[in-house]
Amino acid sequence: MKKFGFSTINSRTIDYQQFDTRLLDKVLQEEPSFARCMSCGGCTATCSAGNLIDFNVRMLGLLIKRGEIEGLATEIDKCMLCGKCILVCPRGINTRHVIMLIKKEMVKLKLEQV
Ligand code: SF4
Ligand code: SF4
Repeated sequence: MKKFGFSTINSRTIDYQQFDTRLLDKVLQEEPSFARCMSCGGCTATCSAGNLIDFNVRMLGLLIKRGEIEGLATEIDKCMLCGKCILVCPRGINTRHVIMLIKKEMVKLKLEQV
């Protein structure tokens, strides 16, 4: 391994190979535009739900990229599906479709666990 003169604390290391990407893979299959998300936060800044309650749509994207789906179902239910976030996304991502796909897949995952 190449040495850079510094080391990273193990607990602060992000290992992309270890992530559970099942949900992300499903979303990307049906909405490939999501791969273009650069986490700019434009969607969060304009979000109708986020203006009223504690809800961060940009964070949802990061969580599914990391495979952290615990608590995601409750969080995603806060979205009002108004579509405002689509209008401001600089990458032209159909964010509402992404959210609907996550909802659909979350239901399937829940059913698998029953
Ligand atoms: S506005 Fe678009 S590019 Fe920016 S964080 Fe939201 S989905 Fe990603
Ligand atoms: S569709 Fe959902 S995430 Fe997008 S602006 Fe509306 S409430 Fe926010």
